[in-house]
Amino acid sequence: MPSYRTTARGLLLLLLVGGFCGTANAAVPSLAFPVVGNVSFTNDYGAPRPGGWHQGNDIMARWRAPAIAAERGTVELHTGSTLGTCMLYLQGASGYTYVYIHLNNDLTAKSEDSGGCKEGVAYAPGLRTGDFVRKGELLGYVGDSGDAENGMDHLHFEIRKNGTPQNPYNHLLAARHVLYPKPATLDPIWLLLKGTVRSVTADTLEVTVGKIRMSNGWRFYYTRRVTLALSGETVYQQSSSSGVVASSSAGVKPGDAVRVWTTNFAPTWQTQVANPGVLAAHTVRTG
Ligand SMILES: [Zn+2]
Repeated sequence: MPSYRTTARGLLLLLLVGGFCGTANAAVPSLAFPVVGNVSFTNDYGAPRPGGWHQGNDIMARWRAPAIAAERGTVELHTGSTLGTCMLYLQGASGYTYVYIHLNNDLTAKSEDSGGCKEGVAYAPGLRTGDFVRKGELLGYVGDSGDAENGMDHLHFEIRKNGTPQNPYNHLLAARHVLYPKPATLDPIWLLLKGTVRSVTADTLEVTVGKIRMSNGWRFYYTRRVTLALSGETVYQQSSSSGVVASSSAGVKPGDAVRVWTTNFAPTWQTQVANPGVLAAHTVRTG
């Protein structure tokens, strides 16, 4: 059956060619997805845009969604654009540069532009040009500054090598989505996860989270599942009209509204990815 062999060999060659292209792109390290929260994006790299072609991907996200470092590196804030764009460059340790455009410049969701390209508005509190950041560290907040005004809040994200743009799409598809943005230090933190109980076993609690608050005061929305470890130390509470009362694990049922305070942990990459059981529940409050 020589024709089959030929076909098989042709297929193998195609696979090798495909694999080779993949290797060429793989020089971009595996990334942290640059936005924390629910997002949508398409392969809009190269699309025609006013003033030229689109050199990145637009990541649609909620107003003030945390924008984080795709890899570790050094940041350069850029606020002098004639369009009023709040943006930054992340010079990645790998040699790639990541560009974050349309960071937030609003103090309210009404897009009044009164916040400016300031820390706590566009950029993470305390972030300065020249700062080294870890992968997954908070850089700023998604918004609509510059020529995205009156459009939808989104992050325009680029990857460049020696100034030449690369299509970020496959790297974004492969990037890890993290549960929370990393603070600038590795001091222990905790999270308050607000959501709904999906399932509960003797040692795990699966929650569909909707809102997250961090011990440093940062808060954001993110609808996703998180599975927390339960232990003999976990505290159970029930809130009712008369206040908060002690409860037990038997009082936690699928469908319950729940607030979970995690135990303290160091904000490492592993805890950001938050695979099932990595984070532990300190207090579980239903009702
Ligand atoms: Zn764009």
